[in-house]
Amino acid sequence: SDHQLVYPTTPADMDWSTFFPAYVADSEELPDAGQTADENTPAPKKMKQEVEIVDIGCGFGGLLVAMAPVVPNTLMLGLEIRTQVTEFVQERIRSLRVQEAASGKYQNIGCLRANTMKFLPNFFRKAQLSKIFICFPDPHFKARKHKARIVSTTLNSEYAYALRPGGIIYTITDVEDLHHWMVHHLEAHPSFERVSEEEQQADECVTIMSSETEEGKKVSRNNGQKLIALFRRLPDPAW
Ligand code: SAM
Repeated sequence: SDHQLVYPTTPADMDWSTFFPAYVADSEELPDAGQTADENTPAPKKMKQEVEIVDIGCGFGGLLVAMAPVVPNTLMLGLEIRTQVTEFVQERIRSLRVQEAASGKYQNIGCLRANTMKFLPNFFRKAQLSKIFICFPDPHFKARKHKARIVSTTLNSEYAYALRPGGIIYTITDVEDLHHWMVHHLEAHPSFERVSEEEQQADECVTIMSSETEEGKKVSRNNGQKLIALFRRLPDPAW
């Protein structure tokens, strides 16, 4: 349960160094090296870059692995609530890094155990992210379970907070009712506009999320439908 979930008090308290060891800043880039948040807790290691792309409910990590070479200079993080699945993805990334030690590939992806419905603003500051993927989220068919859906008015405000203006939320599902639900809730939100069909088709991330996620592969095997909708984060209105 959430009692065992570890999360930072604020994004500045999060230690990303174990997730992306190749991106830890060199010591000469550390003006305040050795500084401590308080006497007992050392400040987290400084990083050269921040996480910019997030895969919510990343499952077994197919999207992370496929995206890694496509965005080689960008940090991408999968968030997954199931402990064993998270550990599987972490191990998958570890062995890919070993195999690709010479090329340095896969240093830019990581996987974290988290309940994204609860602690997103603890990990990401305002406007930190450029892309959020929500691929084949659990449908929670029954009306009384709809509150467990990962797209909702409240959660959309958290996604809007973490996304920078111009950033994109990618959604894909094979469940028609859930597709309409996600489109309805994101269209109704003042911070988002739907991305045109034309732009959607031209975005290589759309092809990747359709074909490289484990769920996407399963839906293809079963000749299922893939319903896609992208939303752009609008700039906040001037006061
Ligand atoms: N995105 C992957 C794919 O397309 O292959 C996995 C899809 S799977 C149907 C949904 C995943 O979301 C599961 O692995 C589940 O454990 C995870 N999940 C559900 N609720 C979550 C939450 N609140 N926070 C993080 N992950 C969650």
